[in-house]
Amino acid sequence: MNYDQNNIFAKIIRGEIPSNKVYEDEKVLAFHDISRSAPTHVLVIPKGQYLDFLDFTSNASAEEISYFFKKVNQIAKLLEADKSGFRIISNTGSDAHQTVAHFHVHILAGKKLGALLSIE
Ligand code: AMP
Repeated sequence: MNYDQNNIFAKIIRGEIPSNKVYEDEKVLAFHDISRSAPTHVLVIPKGQYLDFLDFTSNASAEEISYFFKKVNQIAKLLEADKSGFRIISNTGSDAHQTVAHFHVHILAGKKLGALLSIE
């Protein structure tokens, strides 16, 4: 699959669609998910054009990968999600129900999130 320049997160990066921003710099953007699955539900995305976790961790430089995940760390703390815990999720592909083909990490926090998914 090729990267679609018109996916919704590409439009958010370009400022064509508004977002409720938590953090932004030249390489990373974090904003509140429009459809919350927890009291705190923030998406963190690199500004580079990567389809998903596999694309990012295969094709981005070690510096980009390190920078991105250090930012996820800082943003989790900015959200005070480190106080009582949080979950990070990166849905990849159709079985995981990835709906936006621009790599992103969900930070979920603010309540007891329960156990991981069961096998059913
Ligand atoms: P995923 O299903 O892992 O690909 O996650 C995509 C996420 O993007 C979903 O949780 C959506 O609610 C969220 N989303 C879609 N459009 C927007 C938007 N315009 N602003 C903020 N979040 C969005």
